Amino acid sequence: MLKIEHIGIAVKDLEKSNEVYAKLLGKPQYKSELVESENVDTSFFQIGESKIELLGATNEESAIAKYLDKRGEGIHHLAFAVENIEAEVERLKAEGFQPISEKPKRGADNKLVFFFHPKTTNGVLIELCQEIK
Ligand code: ZN
Repeated sequence: MLKIEHIGIAVKDLEKSNEVYAKLLGKPQYKSELVESENVDTSFFQIGESKIELLGATNEESAIAKYLDKRGEGIHHLAFAVENIEAEVERLKAEGFQPISEKPKRGADNKLVFFFHPKTTNGVLIELCQEIK
């Protein structure tokens, strides 16, 4: 793993939260991106080497909508940058971490992403992400 790439935060109202985080961090988001396949709308803020990803649901089918219903707003996942996502996924599966999907897929911010279940990581949803070159 290379670094903490970003921290994902689930929010109810993305536009309002963009303002809140722009105030908090002293600068606006550098990118907003709709991930239609996941029913998620995102905004990214750069903080040094790491980012904050705000996640809003676009409809009730969204995993974010379900998360908000169950747990309310807050930290949703921790994302680690990796060089070789396939290799890292295999390594973590072999270590007994529970994967959420079959294989890496395209996520926001030009990344291949893969998730591990919070059940096996002390309650934290873990994302691996690899920049698509
Ligand atoms: Zn993420």
